[in-house]
Amino acid sequence: MPYAPSRVCKCGALVPAGRACPRCSRAAEAARPNRHQRGYDSDWYRLRRAHLAMQPGCVVCGSTEGVDVDHKASIRERPEGRLDPANLQTLCRLHHNRKTHGKRQG
Ligand SMILES: [Zn+2]
Ligand SMILES: [Zn+2]
Repeated sequence: MPYAPSRVCKCGALVPAGRACPRCSRAAEAARPNRHQRGYDSDWYRLRRAHLAMQPGCVVCGSTEGVDVDHKASIRERPEGRLDPANLQTLCRLHHNRKTHGKRQG
């Protein structure tokens, strides 16, 4: 049987050769961003889907193509309205863009 040396990982742990360091792989797992950290969680996905089931078309033109769920009061204006069903409306891409970029100031 050939001699199988252990190696010293960069973290200082002694790891059998050819194996991943358990300490480092656990750290890598913890560092990976998840949906919560990206700002979209399962609550939002569930709410979004429920909203689209009730209101599948754009509230302005009625189109059902490329629709998205929009927050009437933006999350920046009203963070607590993010998961409030009353704050949601369906908009097609055109009207969503128009709202986002064409907002009149004051
Ligand atoms: Zn390590
Ligand atoms: Zn529209």
